[in-house]
Amino acid sequence: MRLTSTRNPAVSATFAQAVLANTPGDGGLYMPAAWPALPDLEDLLALPWDARNPVLLGRILGDAFLPGEVEAMAREAFTFPAPLVQVEDGLFALELFHGPTLAFKDFGARFLAAVLARISPGPRTILTATSGDTGAAVASAFWRRPGFRAVVLYPQGRVSPLQERQIACLGDNVEALAVQGSFDDCQTLVKACFQDAGLSAQAGLTSANSINIARLVAQVLYYVEAVAQLRDRGIRQRPLVSVPSGNFGNLCAGFLAAGLGLPVSFVAATNANRTVPDHLETGAYAPRPSLATLSNAMDVGDPSNWERILHLHGGDLDALRRNLRWGSQDDAATLASLAELRARGYTADPHAAVAYGQLRRVLEPGRPGIFLGTAHPAKFQAILEARLGWEIPLPPALAELEGRPLHTRPLPADANLLKRELA
Ligand SMILES: *Cc1c(COP(=O)(O)O)cnc(C)c1O
Repeated sequence: MRLTSTRNPAVSATFAQAVLANTPGDGGLYMPAAWPALPDLEDLLALPWDARNPVLLGRILGDAFLPGEVEAMAREAFTFPAPLVQVEDGLFALELFHGPTLAFKDFGARFLAAVLARISPGPRTILTATSGDTGAAVASAFWRRPGFRAVVLYPQGRVSPLQERQIACLGDNVEALAVQGSFDDCQTLVKACFQDAGLSAQAGLTSANSINIARLVAQVLYYVEAVAQLRDRGIRQRPLVSVPSGNFGNLCAGFLAAGLGLPVSFVAATNANRTVPDHLETGAYAPRPSLATLSNAMDVGDPSNWERILHLHGGDLDALRRNLRWGSQDDAATLASLAELRARGYTADPHAAVAYGQLRRVLEPGRPGIFLGTAHPAKFQAILEARLGWEIPLPPALAELEGRPLHTRPLPADANLLKRELA
């Protein structure tokens, strides 16, 4: 597999180089220089999840690993299913929250850990900024892995208490830093550290954010699984898939899956953070400070992966507009979507509810629709109880964290302080 830069087609890196370097260093992001087509897609769709994943990864990664290694990585990372659950006739939730930290970030973080364990030349520090779920997934994926230290930055008071527990109660080789600022401030701090070449080399800094290409590769797999499960139900029409989006890594993975020949179309669903819908509607890209919403993992004002999605469309906004539907909704609409789903017998989390609300708005009658369930509703238990009066029982993985001490330290939003911490 060869990777190139969104900003310079002359850049050429191997998969291992791209994973270790995070970014090409020219301000752009790594993207595959070529992408396989799957002439045997129908045969692959007929395979079960466990058997299909190594085959797909092998096609995507090419000669980056030996076939046995690809199979071992897939077995190690993807130990949980991605069930397609019917909510009503022709309308489904793809539940991506059955991993250890109960959010879809487990797919990318666990695969990244499996990849790094095989390609890392020495001790590494995984540095990540999180709006909630990435930090939990990264902490879990790297916890007690020899040769790795994980440093997780999260915006103090802006992640749910349960998310904070997941990030901060592991301890050991996981350091949790509560940044006095927003998620965007956390991202800025992390970027400043990566731009410091001396520090990066010294600490073996590696990003686990969705700018890391390994995460996107892992996320391609469950889009294929969604179509496979539609086939199992005898549905052959092209589904409309609604992706609750913040940093736009998940939607980017969806477009990569479509690039394999998978018959899917997308809705980009956002909360009140309207940078992307406004870009699509006005043509002007205007990043702005993020707004705090009920779907906090999507509170992103300057989404890093948007550049990748534009790149996939040759930088042509009109081409992208033809290939995508989009919409945003505020918290009041999200509460209404949650209640609507609950009335149909399905309890969602606020992120999935945004995806559902926007899917409903644009889905043509008779066409299959899928919204991505990106987090287990129990992760947002406090919000759902306070705003809707629902009692959501905690699954054992979360209940076990209650009462464990937190290992977290406050960090002012100052890059020099973080650099001193990492050096
Ligand atoms: C991270 C996250 C999102 C947003 O995904 P992006 O890839 O950043 O667009 C949506 N929902 C949940 C629950 C998340 O954790």
